[in-house]
Amino acid sequence: MQKLLAAAVFATLTALTPAKAQERSAEKLKVLATFSIIADLVRNVGGDRVEVSALVGADADGHAYSPSPADAKKVAEARVVIANGLGFEGWMTRLVKSSGSKAPVVVATKGIKPLKARGGHSHGHGHGHSHDHGQNDPHAWQSVPNVKVYVANIRDALAAADPAGKSVYEKNASAYIASLDTLDREVRDAVERLPKQARRVITNHDAFAYFGAAYGLEFISAHGVSPDAQPSAKDVARIVSQIRKQKIPAVFLENVSDDRLMKRIAAETGAKIGGKLYSDALTGEKGDAPTYIDLIRHNIRTLSAALTS
Ligand code: ZN
Repeated sequence: MQKLLAAAVFATLTALTPAKAQERSAEKLKVLATFSIIADLVRNVGGDRVEVSALVGADADGHAYSPSPADAKKVAEARVVIANGLGFEGWMTRLVKSSGSKAPVVVATKGIKPLKARGGHSHGHGHGHSHDHGQNDPHAWQSVPNVKVYVANIRDALAAADPAGKSVYEKNASAYIASLDTLDREVRDAVERLPKQARRVITNHDAFAYFGAAYGLEFISAHGVSPDAQPSAKDVARIVSQIRKQKIPAVFLENVSDDRLMKRIAAETGAKIGGKLYSDALTGEKGDAPTYIDLIRHNIRTLSAALTS
Protein backbone atom coordinates (compact mmCIF):
# COMPACT_ATOMS: atom_id res chain seq x y z
CA MET A 1 0.00 0.00 0.00
CA GLN A 2 2.79 2.42 0.96
CA LYS A 3 4.61 1.45 -2.19
CA LEU A 4 1.47 2.18 -4.19
CA LEU A 5 1.08 5.56 -2.53
CA ALA A 6 4.71 6.42 -3.16
CA ALA A 7 4.28 5.44 -6.79
CA ALA A 8 1.20 7.62 -7.05
CA VAL A 9 3.01 10.60 -5.51
CA PHE A 10 5.97 10.04 -7.82
CA ALA A 11 3.64 9.84 -10.83
CA THR A 12 1.93 13.07 -9.77
CA LEU A 13 5.25 14.88 -9.35
CA THR A 14 6.71 13.66 -12.61
CA ALA A 15 3.47 14.59 -14.40
CA LEU A 16 4.31 18.23 -13.72
CA THR A 17 7.11 18.34 -16.29
CA PRO A 18 5.77 18.72 -19.86
CA ALA A 19 7.73 15.86 -21.44
CA LYS A 20 6.67 13.48 -18.69
CA ALA A 21 3.10 14.74 -18.88
CA GLN A 22 3.00 13.70 -22.51
CA GLU A 23 4.39 10.29 -21.74
CA ARG A 24 1.83 9.98 -18.99
CA SER A 25 -1.12 10.91 -21.24
CA ALA A 26 -0.17 8.09 -23.57
CA GLU A 27 -0.75 5.70 -20.67
CA LYS A 28 -4.14 7.03 -19.66
CA LEU A 29 -6.87 4.50 -19.10
CA LYS A 30 -9.26 4.73 -22.07
CA VAL A 31 -12.83 4.70 -20.84
CA LEU A 32 -15.84 4.83 -23.11
CA ALA A 33 -19.18 5.94 -21.68
CA THR A 34 -22.37 5.34 -23.61
CA PHE A 35 -23.65 8.91 -23.10
CA SER A 36 -22.65 12.35 -21.86
CA ILE A 37 -23.91 12.12 -18.27
CA ILE A 38 -21.98 8.94 -17.52
CA ALA A 39 -18.90 10.43 -19.21
CA ASP A 40 -19.03 13.36 -16.77
CA LEU A 41 -19.25 11.00 -13.78
CA VAL A 42 -16.26 9.03 -15.10
CA ARG A 43 -14.28 12.25 -15.52
CA ASN A 44 -14.96 13.18 -11.90
CA VAL A 45 -13.87 9.78 -10.58
CA GLY A 46 -11.01 9.17 -13.01
CA GLY A 47 -9.48 12.64 -12.98
CA ASP A 48 -6.33 12.84 -15.09
CA ARG A 49 -5.65 9.11 -14.96
CA VAL A 50 -8.38 8.47 -17.53
CA GLU A 51 -9.25 9.56 -21.05
CA VAL A 52 -13.04 9.58 -21.37
CA SER A 53 -15.24 9.75 -24.42
CA ALA A 54 -18.98 9.34 -24.92
CA LEU A 55 -20.78 7.59 -27.75
CA VAL A 56 -23.89 9.78 -27.47
CA GLY A 57 -22.75 13.36 -26.95
CA ALA A 58 -24.20 16.65 -25.74
CA ASP A 59 -27.89 17.38 -26.44
CA ALA A 60 -28.31 14.04 -28.20
CA ASP A 61 -30.95 11.39 -27.58
CA GLY A 62 -29.53 8.08 -26.35
CA HIS A 63 -32.78 6.14 -26.86
CA ALA A 64 -32.81 6.49 -30.63
CA TYR A 65 -29.08 6.26 -31.24
CA SER A 66 -27.65 4.50 -34.30
CA PRO A 67 -24.00 3.52 -33.77
CA SER A 68 -21.61 4.23 -36.66
CA PRO A 69 -18.56 2.20 -37.77
CA ALA A 70 -16.43 4.83 -35.98
CA ASP A 71 -18.24 3.91 -32.75
CA ALA A 72 -17.25 0.26 -33.15
CA LYS A 73 -13.65 1.46 -33.39
CA LYS A 74 -14.06 3.50 -30.18
CA VAL A 75 -15.42 0.43 -28.40
CA ALA A 76 -12.54 -1.67 -29.70
CA GLU A 77 -10.00 0.85 -28.34
CA ALA A 78 -11.58 1.25 -24.91
CA ARG A 79 -10.18 -0.60 -21.88
CA VAL A 80 -13.46 -0.15 -20.01
CA VAL A 81 -16.96 0.52 -21.35
CA ILE A 82 -19.54 2.01 -18.98
CA ALA A 83 -23.24 1.83 -19.79
CA ASN A 84 -26.40 2.90 -17.98
CA GLY A 85 -28.26 -0.37 -18.41
CA LEU A 86 -31.97 -0.76 -17.53
CA GLY A 87 -32.68 -1.02 -21.26
CA PHE A 88 -31.45 2.50 -22.11
CA GLU A 89 -28.86 1.39 -24.65
CA GLY A 90 -30.79 -1.17 -26.69
CA TRP A 91 -28.15 -0.76 -29.42
CA MET A 92 -25.21 -1.63 -27.16
CA THR A 93 -24.98 -5.44 -27.22
CA ARG A 94 -24.74 -5.61 -31.00
CA LEU A 95 -22.20 -2.75 -31.07
CA VAL A 96 -19.89 -4.43 -28.53
CA LYS A 97 -20.16 -7.73 -30.37
CA SER A 98 -19.39 -6.19 -33.77
CA SER A 99 -16.40 -4.28 -32.33
CA GLY A 100 -14.73 -7.50 -31.20
CA SER A 101 -13.92 -5.78 -27.90
CA LYS A 102 -12.84 -7.79 -24.88
CA ALA A 103 -13.25 -4.79 -22.56
CA PRO A 104 -15.61 -5.25 -19.63
CA VAL A 105 -18.98 -3.55 -20.10
CA VAL A 106 -19.85 -2.18 -16.70
CA VAL A 107 -23.48 -1.39 -15.86
CA ALA A 108 -23.47 1.81 -13.80
CA THR A 109 -26.97 1.23 -12.38
CA LYS A 110 -26.03 -2.12 -10.77
CA GLY A 111 -27.61 -2.22 -7.32
CA ILE A 112 -30.21 0.49 -8.04
CA LYS A 113 -33.82 -0.45 -7.49
CA PRO A 114 -35.45 0.18 -10.88
CA LEU A 115 -38.79 1.89 -11.30
CA LYS A 116 -41.24 0.30 -13.70
CA ALA A 117 -41.77 2.23 -16.90
CA ARG A 118 -45.11 4.01 -16.89
CA GLY A 119 -47.57 4.71 -19.65
CA GLY A 120 -49.31 2.49 -22.14
CA HIS A 121 -48.15 1.79 -25.66
CA SER A 122 -45.07 3.92 -26.01
CA HIS A 123 -42.22 1.96 -24.49
CA GLY A 124 -40.25 1.72 -27.71
CA HIS A 125 -36.54 2.54 -27.62
CA GLY A 126 -34.94 3.61 -30.84
CA HIS A 127 -36.67 4.39 -34.10
CA GLY A 128 -40.09 3.70 -32.73
CA HIS A 129 -39.74 -0.05 -32.78
CA SER A 130 -39.92 -1.89 -29.53
CA HIS A 131 -37.14 -4.20 -28.37
CA ASP A 132 -37.56 -6.58 -25.53
CA HIS A 133 -35.60 -4.77 -22.80
CA GLY A 134 -38.07 -5.44 -20.05
CA GLN A 135 -40.22 -2.68 -18.70
CA ASN A 136 -37.83 -0.77 -16.47
CA ASP A 137 -37.52 2.98 -16.59
CA PRO A 138 -33.88 3.67 -17.53
CA HIS A 139 -33.65 7.32 -16.33
CA ALA A 140 -32.20 6.45 -12.89
CA TRP A 141 -29.63 9.29 -13.05
CA GLN A 142 -32.35 11.87 -12.37
CA SER A 143 -32.20 10.90 -8.67
CA VAL A 144 -29.05 12.22 -7.00
CA PRO A 145 -28.97 9.36 -4.43
CA ASN A 146 -28.96 6.91 -7.37
CA VAL A 147 -26.01 8.70 -8.93
CA LYS A 148 -24.00 7.99 -5.78
CA VAL A 149 -24.46 4.31 -6.71
CA TYR A 150 -23.33 5.05 -10.29
CA VAL A 151 -20.20 6.70 -8.87
CA ALA A 152 -19.39 3.73 -6.62
CA ASN A 153 -19.77 1.33 -9.57
CA ILE A 154 -17.57 3.54 -11.75
CA ARG A 155 -14.94 3.79 -8.99
CA ASP A 156 -14.80 -0.01 -8.67
CA ALA A 157 -14.64 -0.49 -12.45
CA LEU A 158 -11.75 1.94 -12.84
CA ALA A 159 -9.86 0.39 -9.92
CA ALA A 160 -10.32 -3.09 -11.39
CA ALA A 161 -8.95 -1.98 -14.77
CA ASP A 162 -6.16 0.16 -13.28
CA PRO A 163 -5.24 -1.15 -9.80
CA ALA A 164 -2.35 1.35 -9.47
CA GLY A 165 -4.94 4.16 -9.46
CA LYS A 166 -7.21 2.61 -6.83
CA SER A 167 -6.46 5.14 -4.06
CA VAL A 168 -6.86 8.06 -6.48
CA TYR A 169 -10.24 6.77 -7.67
CA GLU A 170 -11.36 6.25 -4.08
CA LYS A 171 -10.36 9.76 -3.07
CA ASN A 172 -11.96 11.36 -6.14
CA ALA A 173 -15.16 9.35 -5.71
CA SER A 174 -15.49 10.36 -2.03
CA ALA A 175 -15.00 14.04 -2.87
CA TYR A 176 -17.54 13.86 -5.68
CA ILE A 177 -20.07 11.98 -3.53
CA ALA A 178 -19.73 14.79 -0.96
CA SER A 179 -20.67 17.30 -3.71
CA LEU A 180 -23.63 15.10 -4.62
CA ASP A 181 -24.78 15.14 -0.98
CA THR A 182 -24.72 18.94 -1.04
CA LEU A 183 -26.65 18.95 -4.32
CA ASP A 184 -29.22 16.51 -2.91
CA ARG A 185 -29.86 18.81 0.07
CA GLU A 186 -30.19 21.78 -2.29
CA VAL A 187 -32.90 19.99 -4.27
CA ARG A 188 -34.78 18.88 -1.13
CA ASP A 189 -34.72 22.44 0.27
CA ALA A 190 -35.99 23.86 -3.03
CA VAL A 191 -38.86 21.35 -3.25
CA GLU A 192 -39.75 22.05 0.38
CA ARG A 193 -40.30 25.72 -0.55
CA LEU A 194 -42.75 24.88 -3.36
CA PRO A 195 -46.47 25.15 -2.60
CA LYS A 196 -47.83 21.59 -2.21
CA GLN A 197 -50.46 22.00 -4.93
CA ALA A 198 -47.78 23.18 -7.40
CA ARG A 199 -45.65 20.04 -7.16
CA ARG A 200 -47.02 18.67 -10.39
CA VAL A 201 -45.59 19.32 -13.84
CA ILE A 202 -45.89 18.23 -17.47
CA THR A 203 -42.85 17.18 -19.47
CA ASN A 204 -42.36 15.86 -22.95
CA HIS A 205 -41.06 12.33 -22.38
CA ASP A 206 -41.16 10.29 -19.21
CA ALA A 207 -37.61 11.04 -18.00
CA PHE A 208 -38.25 12.38 -14.51
CA ALA A 209 -39.97 9.58 -12.57
CA TYR A 210 -36.84 8.93 -10.46
CA PHE A 211 -36.51 12.65 -9.73
CA GLY A 212 -40.19 12.73 -8.79
CA ALA A 213 -39.93 9.65 -6.56
CA ALA A 214 -36.81 10.94 -4.79
CA TYR A 215 -38.07 14.48 -4.17
CA GLY A 216 -41.86 14.32 -4.05
CA LEU A 217 -42.87 15.91 -7.36
CA GLU A 218 -45.28 14.42 -9.83
CA PHE A 219 -44.21 14.40 -13.48
CA ILE A 220 -46.80 13.74 -16.13
CA SER A 221 -45.48 13.09 -19.61
CA ALA A 222 -47.05 13.41 -23.00
CA HIS A 223 -44.80 10.75 -24.51
CA GLY A 224 -43.68 7.47 -22.97
CA VAL A 225 -40.16 6.74 -21.72
CA SER A 226 -38.64 7.42 -25.13
CA PRO A 227 -38.74 10.91 -26.72
CA ASP A 228 -39.19 9.54 -30.22
CA ALA A 229 -42.40 7.61 -29.49
CA GLN A 230 -45.36 9.45 -31.03
CA PRO A 231 -48.20 10.24 -28.63
CA SER A 232 -51.66 9.39 -29.86
CA ALA A 233 -54.47 11.94 -30.13
CA LYS A 234 -55.95 10.24 -27.07
CA ASP A 235 -52.74 10.81 -25.06
CA VAL A 236 -52.78 14.49 -25.97
CA ALA A 237 -56.46 14.85 -25.08
CA ARG A 238 -55.79 13.15 -21.73
CA ILE A 239 -52.97 15.60 -20.89
CA VAL A 240 -55.01 18.62 -21.97
CA SER A 241 -57.94 17.63 -19.77
CA GLN A 242 -55.65 16.83 -16.83
CA ILE A 243 -53.95 20.24 -17.05
CA ARG A 244 -57.34 21.96 -17.03
CA LYS A 245 -58.84 19.85 -14.23
CA GLN A 246 -55.82 20.00 -11.93
CA LYS A 247 -54.91 23.58 -12.86
CA ILE A 248 -51.32 22.51 -13.61
CA PRO A 249 -49.41 25.79 -13.96
CA ALA A 250 -46.59 24.92 -16.35
CA VAL A 251 -45.30 22.57 -19.02
CA PHE A 252 -41.59 22.10 -19.68
CA LEU A 253 -39.46 21.62 -22.77
CA GLU A 254 -36.44 19.29 -22.95
CA ASN A 255 -33.10 19.43 -24.68
CA VAL A 256 -33.55 16.04 -26.37
CA SER A 257 -37.17 16.40 -27.48
CA ASP A 258 -39.08 18.22 -30.18
CA ASP A 259 -40.80 21.32 -28.70
CA ARG A 260 -43.89 21.35 -30.93
CA LEU A 261 -46.16 19.11 -28.89
CA MET A 262 -45.50 20.96 -25.60
CA LYS A 263 -46.10 24.30 -27.30
CA ARG A 264 -49.38 23.03 -28.71
CA ILE A 265 -50.50 21.75 -25.29
CA ALA A 266 -49.53 25.06 -23.68
CA ALA A 267 -51.47 27.03 -26.28
CA GLU A 268 -54.53 24.81 -25.88
CA THR A 269 -54.64 24.92 -22.07
CA GLY A 270 -53.17 28.30 -21.16
CA ALA A 271 -50.46 26.59 -19.07
CA LYS A 272 -47.23 28.51 -19.41
CA ILE A 273 -43.99 27.15 -20.81
CA GLY A 274 -41.90 26.85 -17.65
CA GLY A 275 -38.57 26.63 -19.44
CA LYS A 276 -36.29 23.84 -20.56
CA LEU A 277 -35.36 20.81 -18.47
CA TYR A 278 -32.34 18.67 -19.20
CA SER A 279 -33.27 15.02 -19.20
CA ASP A 280 -31.05 12.56 -21.03
CA ALA A 281 -27.99 14.58 -22.08
CA LEU A 282 -25.68 17.32 -20.93
CA THR A 283 -25.23 20.48 -22.99
CA GLY A 284 -21.96 21.60 -24.54
CA GLU A 285 -19.48 23.67 -22.50
CA LYS A 286 -21.36 26.94 -23.14
CA GLY A 287 -24.82 25.59 -22.34
CA ASP A 288 -26.76 25.51 -19.06
CA ALA A 289 -25.78 21.97 -18.15
CA PRO A 290 -22.21 21.08 -19.12
CA THR A 291 -21.91 18.78 -16.06
CA TYR A 292 -24.30 16.51 -14.16
CA ILE A 293 -24.30 18.81 -11.13
CA ASP A 294 -25.11 21.78 -13.39
CA LEU A 295 -27.91 19.76 -14.98
CA ILE A 296 -29.68 19.00 -11.69
CA ARG A 297 -29.11 22.53 -10.41
CA HIS A 298 -30.50 24.04 -13.62
CA ASN A 299 -33.55 21.77 -13.50
CA ILE A 300 -34.48 22.51 -9.89
CA ARG A 301 -34.00 26.28 -10.42
CA THR A 302 -36.16 26.19 -13.53
CA LEU A 303 -38.87 24.18 -11.75
CA SER A 304 -38.78 26.48 -8.71
CA ALA A 305 -39.00 29.65 -10.78
CA ALA A 306 -41.94 28.37 -12.83
CA LEU A 307 -43.89 26.79 -9.97
CA THR A 308 -43.63 29.59 -7.41
CA SER A 309 -44.43 32.57 -9.60
ZN1 ZN B 1 -35.18 9.40 -22.02
